Amino acid sequence: MEGPAINIAWCKGCGICVAFCPRKALRLVGEKCTVDAGLCVLCGLCELYCPDLAITVDPEAVKRRKSEKSGKTGSPGKSEQSGRAEASGRIGPSGKAARSGKETRHGL
Ligand code: SF4
Ligand code: SF4
Repeated sequence: MEGPAINIAWCKGCGICVAFCPRKALRLVGEKCTVDAGLCVLCGLCELYCPDLAITVDPEAVKRRKSEKSGKTGSPGKSEQSGRAEASGRIGPSGKAARSGKETRHGL
C-alpha cells in the first residue's frame, strides 16, 4: 500500500495534516508526522493543507489507485464486437420504406 511521502526535515509537527486526514492515517510521533500507509486512500488532503509543504502524494500512485478501484479492463471482448457488426448490417424499420421506393404524395 502506498502513502504520502513526508519530508521529516520540513515537518514542524503542527498536526494540521493529522486533523484533516479522513482515514486517521497520520499521527504525530514526538514533533514529527508519520503515516500508516495501510490506512491511506491517497486523497491528497494532507499535501493540500500542510503549511510547510512537507507532504507529497505521488500522482502516479493516485492514478494506479483509481484504475484499481474502477476495475476497467479496456476494450470490449471479441464476441461483443462481432455482435455489434452484425447489428449494424441489419435493416431496421426505416429500411422497409427505402426498398419500396420514394413514397411521395401527389396532390398535397
Ligand atoms: S492522502 Fe489522504 S488518506 Fe492519505 S494520509 Fe493524506 S489525508 Fe490521509
Ligand atoms: S501539516 Fe505538515 S508540518 Fe504539520 S504535522 Fe503535518 S506534515 Fe508536519
